[in-house]
Amino acid sequence: MTFLHDDPSAFAEDALAGLCDAYSHLLREVPGGAVRRRQGSKVAVLYCGGSGHYPAFAGVVGPGMGDGAVCGNIFTSPSADHAVSVATAAHSGQGVIFSYGNYAGDVMNFGMATERLRGQGMQVENVIVTDDVASAPIEDKHKRRGIAGDFTVFKVMGAAAERGDGFDDVVRLGRKANEATRTMGVAFAGCTLPGAEAPLFEVPEGHMGLGLGIHGEPGLADVPLTSAKDLAKILVDRVLAERPGPGPQRAAVILNGLGATKYEELFVLWRSVARLLREADIEIVTPEVGELVTSLDMAGTSLTLMFLDAELEDLWNAPALTPAFTRGAITAELPASDEADPEPAQAPATAFQAGSAQSQQAATATLRAITLTQTLLHDAEPELGRLDAIAGDGDHGRGMVRGVDAAAQAATEAAEHGVGAQDLLAAAGDAWAGNAGGTSGVLWGAGLRAAGEELGNDRDVTPADIANAAQAFVDRLGALGKASVGDKTMLDAAVPFATALMTAVGSGSTLSNALAEAAAIATESARQSADLRPQVGRARPLAEKSIGTPDPGATSFALIVAALAKEVR
Ligand code: ADP
Ligand code: MG
Repeated sequence: MTFLHDDPSAFAEDALAGLCDAYSHLLREVPGGAVRRRQGSKVAVLYCGGSGHYPAFAGVVGPGMGDGAVCGNIFTSPSADHAVSVATAAHSGQGVIFSYGNYAGDVMNFGMATERLRGQGMQVENVIVTDDVASAPIEDKHKRRGIAGDFTVFKVMGAAAERGDGFDDVVRLGRKANEATRTMGVAFAGCTLPGAEAPLFEVPEGHMGLGLGIHGEPGLADVPLTSAKDLAKILVDRVLAERPGPGPQRAAVILNGLGATKYEELFVLWRSVARLLREADIEIVTPEVGELVTSLDMAGTSLTLMFLDAELEDLWNAPALTPAFTRGAITAELPASDEADPEPAQAPATAFQAGSAQSQQAATATLRAITLTQTLLHDAEPELGRLDAIAGDGDHGRGMVRGVDAAAQAATEAAEHGVGAQDLLAAAGDAWAGNAGGTSGVLWGAGLRAAGEELGNDRDVTPADIANAAQAFVDRLGALGKASVGDKTMLDAAVPFATALMTAVGSGSTLSNALAEAAAIATESARQSADLRPQVGRARPLAEKSIGTPDPGATSFALIVAALAKEVR
């Protein structure tokens, strides 16, 4: 558990501020993360993801490695706003590369940030890490999660950018490093979110969870705990099952600790890992044994191999100087840490436009719906977290609360300026997406904005407008998340809701009746999602564990529409 914190919900921000203060000769804090103190113009490589993984991601920023880190809340993707902010601060004229593990929330948020930055003329690419062999078969490598293999990919790209490689080369090398990297992990005990009383998952006594996740997702299969020797064999066999060929092979090797596994334990394990690798004709190149990608206080370890050719080996061995990771000697002179920091760009003040009197009334009703949702979600937070911890990472309750709190605040401010319904929902949606992080956050944010576009700022809102808004919400979710009904996501409640609402309104029901009918269908659909196997999102690799539990996102959606329907009635 976490013994030290102030406000637990600000743990990630507080830790980042402390890190940037302690290593102020290397790092400078910016909104949404940290950037490295400038050293001329180069391709900017950014390491990105939720917090709770130290030294990933800000702890490995510095000469020879990254130019900055975009840091989300604990285990939660940063928002697109934060990605744009850090990219803008790190950019030195030669483009920005976001690199992160393959999680739906990160893919969506960095995808949206990429679109926005490209729209401003910046060259931007994404290099997505998919090293976890346990999370999907090799034919579906693009579906695999990113775990400790983040580090080999980061190292290669950081070194390539440092020596002055061009944008396309750094991207190519990052993708090549990912193609060459394989990781297999095991968890002995779950981790506990700061301020929480119980771990996100528990490994049964005398067992270990094979195929760990790094966000408090439990292992894919609980098997009896073995000796270090036997565990070494399990890990090595699994990783070498995907070696590029039978002949002698050089490989960068990481034996990673997850946060609560002692270095001595790792060295005991390493002894057998190294022997088995050598027996298999693997030449170990500059190994790392220690904590590189952690999961708060989780007990566990993972073995990563990056199969090397000459090009990757040079980059793996290149020097680096960061708060948590040093290799060789960096000769460049560091800028003094008291060197004047550039003034942070001020976000332009939002200009509100008054809506028509009718639309202002609709905006007031919408604001009431948002504050009602806020109360509801605060009450439901623990239960939504519990549902998400079964096959996900346990942050759904907290993410929804952060999102709705920000949305309520933004909507209140917008209403005070007399905006119409569309602008109120746009403000609420942007604030939700900007503050919740995670998959559900970006989806809710974009969905609310899209829903608002059906309501306008200059007219009364009819029941048909509300039905269209619900449909626009689900259409936006589908377009952004690329999931379908049956994939076990919030769409499994939202799509039947929108369809039922549309039908009921179309056949002349009152809004009150139509909402009640549609909400009942959403509630039942969310309940039935328990039987589904997740096909997308963090829960997909843990499909078996998820069966029997309703989807967290579908559940929160159904709770919200049920409460709204009751209020309207
Ligand atoms: P994260 O998965 O990033 O931790 P949350 O825990 O807040 O985010 O939300 C999880 C929920 O997000 C899931 O229960 C599911 O309903 C929804 N979700 C995940 N991926 C998708 C997707 N591709 N499309 C629609 N909804 C999704
Ligand atoms: Mg989650």
